[in-house]
Amino acid sequence: MNTISQGPKFVVSRAEGAWIWDDNGDRYLDGTASLWYCNVGHGRTEIADAVHRQLSTLDAYAVYGDFANEPALQLSERLAAHAPVADPRVILTCGGGESIETAAKLARRYWAAQGQPERGHLISRTGGYHGLHGFGTSMIGMDRFRSGFGQIVKDASVVPHDSLEALEEEILRVGPERVAAFFAEPVIGAGGVYAPAPGYFEGVAELCQRYGILFVVDSVICGFARMGNWFGIERFGVRPDMIVFAKGVTSGYLPLGGVIVSGEVAEPFWNRPGNPFIHGTTYAGHPTCAAAAMANLDILEREDLFTVSLEIETQLDAAVRTLADHPLVAEVRSGVGVMAAVELTTEALEGRGITTAEVFTEARARGVVLRAVPHSLLISPPLIVTWEQIDHLVSTLRSALDAVDQRH
Ligand code: PLP
Repeated sequence: MNTISQGPKFVVSRAEGAWIWDDNGDRYLDGTASLWYCNVGHGRTEIADAVHRQLSTLDAYAVYGDFANEPALQLSERLAAHAPVADPRVILTCGGGESIETAAKLARRYWAAQGQPERGHLISRTGGYHGLHGFGTSMIGMDRFRSGFGQIVKDASVVPHDSLEALEEEILRVGPERVAAFFAEPVIGAGGVYAPAPGYFEGVAELCQRYGILFVVDSVICGFARMGNWFGIERFGVRPDMIVFAKGVTSGYLPLGGVIVSGEVAEPFWNRPGNPFIHGTTYAGHPTCAAAAMANLDILEREDLFTVSLEIETQLDAAVRTLADHPLVAEVRSGVGVMAAVELTTEALEGRGITTAEVFTEARARGVVLRAVPHSLLISPPLIVTWEQIDHLVSTLRSALDAVDQRH
C-alpha cells in the first residue's frame, strides 16, 4: 500500500536530472524515472515556475458545468492536436487509474446510448496493468492485484497478451454484441515490458473493426516520448477509439491524466443538454496541474526528447542485452521504447530461492534505483539519461546480480 507506516523507510530528499538523493545525502541514479513518469528528468525549474505563476494567477477552480480554465483548455487542444484519434475530444482527470475508469464508463455509456445497454464486457490482456480503481483492478492481467476483492466488475476478462487468435476466440465466446471494448498498453509496462509481436496491433484494430468493438489504448507509461512519439501507439500505425494517458504528461511534477476520445464515441454526450454521461471528479482539469503539463510539453518539444528517446532506446537496448549472459538471467526484454526488463531464471527464483527484491536492494546499495516485480527487474530511466549513466546502471545491475549469485 502507498501509505507511510512504521518501519525503516528510504527517504528521498532531493532530485536533479537523472539523480535522486536520500536523507543521508547519498546519491542514486533514478533508473525508473520514479514510477515510469519523470520523462524530462527532475529539478526542472521551468515547470516549478509555471506552477508558481499559475498558483499566483488562478490557484484552482473546479471544471464542472460550463466552468473551464485556460490551462486546461490549452492543454486539451494541444493533446488533441497530436492524438492519433479521429476528431479527438479530451477529458482531463487526476491520474491513470481515474482515466481508466472514465474510459470504461464511457465505453459502456456509449453502447447504452446506441440502444445496446447489455454491451458492457471489457477485454484486456495478461500482464496488462490499468491502475487499481474498480474497473482497472478488474482488467489487470495479473492475479495478485485482483485476488481478495471479490468480483468488482463482472463482465471483464483477460486474454493472452500476444495472441490475436485468443482475442477473437474470447470475442466469439462472449458474443460480439456483448463486448464493449478492448484495452491494451502499446508495450506492457509494469507487467514486465512486453512489446507486441509484429502485426499484433494491426490485427487488433482489424478485429475491433470487424466486430464493432471499441479499441482503448492505455498509454499511461508509453506516452510523452517514452516510445519516441506522443502516445506510443503511433509506432504501430493504428488509430484507437480512445487513448488513456497520465504520468509523462506532467513528468509527474503534479498529478494529471485523461482520456482522448474520438468524436464518434463522444458524440452522444459532448456539450449536450441533459448529457447522460454523468461523470467527473473535483480536481479534474485543475489549472495548476495543467500549467505543469504545458511546461513539461514545452520541454519535450524544445529539447526534442521524442528523437532523443529513440537514441536512448537503442543505447539502452545494446547495454542491457549484455546482461543476457549472466547465470541468473533468463531473458532480457528491451528495444521498443526506453524501457527494459531483466528476467531471472526459474532455477534462480524457484530452485535457489533468489528474489528480485534482493537484486533491487543490492543495486540500490550500489547507487542505482530499479524496480523489482516478481520475475524481473524493470528499467525505465528519464529521457535525459546519458550514455555514461546507462553504462553505470547496467554495470551496477551486473554487480548486484553477482553479489546475489555469490550469496546463495
Ligand atoms: N495504466 C498503466 C499502463 C499504468 O502503468 C498505470 C500506473 O502505473 C496506470 C494505468 C494507473 O495510473 P495511476 O497509478 O496514476 O492511477
